[in-house]
Parts: sequence; structure tokens; C-alpha cells
Amino acid sequence: MSCSDRDPDCIFCKIVAGEIPSHKVYEDDDVLAFLDIAPTIQGHTLVIPKCHCPTLIETPPETLRKVAAVIRRVLTAVVDATDADGSNVLQSNGACAGQVVRHVHFHLVPRREGDHLTLGSRQSDPVEDDLAARAESIRAAM
Ligand code: AMP
Ligand code: ZN
Repeated sequence: MSCSDRDPDCIFCKIVAGEIPSHKVYEDDDVLAFLDIAPTIQGHTLVIPKCHCPTLIETPPETLRKVAAVIRRVLTAVVDATDADGSNVLQSNGACAGQVVRHVHFHLVPRREGDHLTLGSRQSDPVEDDLAARAESIRAAM
């Protein structure tokens, strides 16, 4: 399947449609950013195109350009709001690469000196966080 308006079985399409709740930090006509429900570190945010594109290769360049601009804007706010020292932007394509949700997405992960996160295969345990308060602090930093 290439990029289309919506896949009725896709959990991220359901978030875009408001059928599943999420903690949104940014939204425009084409792109949505929301907190990961199982963050590897406080502030772990996902950025997705609103149209259903399974992987990066199937995502039109024009859509990727819009997503990239939002990644930069939201990452700035995430780093600011979490007082981070740096960040990772991670993206996987296909189950063999660790992609679980087949709607292209970018993980924005704020990093602190000495946080000892291991992100290669995303095996880090989820951390507890108040997602509503975290989303508000990131929105406020934007
Ligand atoms: P990946 O393994 O790269 O496909 O990442 C999928 C990410 O989506 C994981 O980090 C999940 O914690 C996250 N996730 C799954 N369901 C939800 C949801 N309903 N709201 C927010 N994040 C979610
Ligand atoms: Zn989708």
C-alpha cells in the first residue's frame, strides 16, 4: 500500500481521526506530533504525516519535507522543555528493522548526559511520566 488518506486498521490513523486519545504537542493540516504512550525517556515524541504511508520509502517527498520541518520545530521544543543536552531522531522501516506500527513515524528522543539509554533496538524500558503535563510543557516551549 502506498501513501493514502487513511487505513481503517491503523492505530496512528485512528489517532489522527481522534478515535483514539493522544497527548498532542503539534498539529497542522498534514502533520501530527504526539507523545509516545510508552516513552523511553520523558518527552519521547512521535511525528507522523496525517496520511497513511506505511514506510519512509512509500512517503512522497513533499510529505517528507513537511514532516521534516515539523520534526525540527517540535524537537527544538522537546529539548527545551526537558532541558536536554541532545537528542536522537529514530525511524524504522519494516518488522525486520523493528517497526511495529506500519504508519511512518519519527521518534524524537531527548538525551541527557549520563542517561545510559540504549536505543539501537529500542529495548529500553518505558519510563513513568505524566503525559498530559509533559505535552503541555512542550506546547508551551513552542
Ligand atoms: P515502532 O516500534 O518504531 O513502530 O514504534 C511505535 C511506537 O508507537 C512505540 O514506541 C509505541 O510505544 C508507540 N505507540 C503505540 N501505540 C501508541 C498510542 N496509542 N499512542 C502513542 N504511542 C503509541
Ligand atoms: Zn495509518
